[in-house]
Amino acid sequence: MDYDHIIVRYGELALKGRNRKIFTNKLHENVARKLKDHAKIKIKKTRDRMYIILNGEDPNPIIDKCKVIFGIQSLSVAIKVENDPDKIKESALFALREAEKVKTFKITAKRVDKNFPIGSQEFNHVVGGYILSSTTGYTVDVHNPDIELHIEIRNEATYITSKRILGAGGLPVGSSGKTLLLLSGGIDSPVAGYLAMKRGVQIEAIHFHSPPYTSDRAKQKVFDLAEKLTNYGDKIKIHVVPFTKLQQKIHRDIPYGYSMTVMRRMMMKISEQIARNEGILSLTTGESLGQVASQTMESMHAINEVTNYPIIRPLITMDKTEIMHISENINAYEISIRPYEDCCTVFVPASPKTKPKTDKVVYFESNYDYQEEIEEAIKNKETVEITQENNMENEFIDLL
Ligand code: ATP
Ligand code: MG
Repeated sequence: MDYDHIIVRYGELALKGRNRKIFTNKLHENVARKLKDHAKIKIKKTRDRMYIILNGEDPNPIIDKCKVIFGIQSLSVAIKVENDPDKIKESALFALREAEKVKTFKITAKRVDKNFPIGSQEFNHVVGGYILSSTTGYTVDVHNPDIELHIEIRNEATYITSKRILGAGGLPVGSSGKTLLLLSGGIDSPVAGYLAMKRGVQIEAIHFHSPPYTSDRAKQKVFDLAEKLTNYGDKIKIHVVPFTKLQQKIHRDIPYGYSMTVMRRMMMKISEQIARNEGILSLTTGESLGQVASQTMESMHAINEVTNYPIIRPLITMDKTEIMHISENINAYEISIRPYEDCCTVFVPASPKTKPKTDKVVYFESNYDYQEEIEEAIKNKETVEITQENNMENEFIDLL
């Protein structure tokens, strides 16, 4: 007898009616991928929960991996036995003896299988009495026990658990479609990506760089950030777009205070075009209202004017401290604060307009044609796939 199963509870998934199968299939896929190195385990999916059958593997590293998978509400290690009162009693006793520093206990039985001969309440007493008569030093405490043993008598078997471990919540990544994340090397955009993933969105990323003003190390920083995000989902494709020519042209053509706004508009146009080419239906940014000049209401209005694409802004109302907290939790912070130059910091004017007028921006741009540079940037992008194992070995899958 042993803790031989992990019960995976779905949480919010359960509310999703007819789409439920899509969600459970996705979750199953994500769990299987995350646990692929655990050769012995088997995963069994049912309508309302999933079972990981351990076949002798240590549950702890598996639980740790599952704790970051979105779509899981809670997890418990469990002993599985037949619906046989004697076997259940023995297992409950085993579970109690396995627990450390426990003096008081409570039994909570739940009978789902109505063919089981003893009702839930009565069975609590039967099991509690058996434990008390077989041991010394334990007492029952129904209000504040050191351990609560849950005995769930289901149709197919009985599961005995003693702890609920909180899962990451949210929805399984991939169940809400895909977004193109504008990923800089900063603190905010990886957090935005993480939060979009929490709602079941799969991430593809776009990064603008401006060699030789920005270095390969700045690019590597972005790959390392993306790698942190793969922890919560599948591999991530990143489109690295050369932005130097466009930035130089903007720098030359556009009045100083407005160059940042125009640059952002170009980023949006290119991002939208690449999303369209990839069949992706939304963009995601790390913008947070009022944080910097490009994120005032006026700036967002002027920048957003170039696209009708839905833009997900998970951080829009969050404070920097809240964002930094998440950044640290997902182990991105240390990477984000590496000091390499970003393309925007290189070309951004010392005092960009905080309240750009949309009609002025449109007017300044109308004197020039940026289409050729936009197309060239898209054509010359390189696409890299970041996987969890080792992002140093990422292949350049598209070097057009
Ligand atoms: P971050 O910390 O994510 O860089 P930020 O607070 O520095 O954000 P900005 O630099 O104004 O804010 O950028 C706003 C958003 O624009 C970023 O969160 C990101 O989504 C996008 N962005 C900025 N620079 C780049 C870049 N070089 N490549 C891709 N996206 C970018
Ligand atoms: Mg930035």
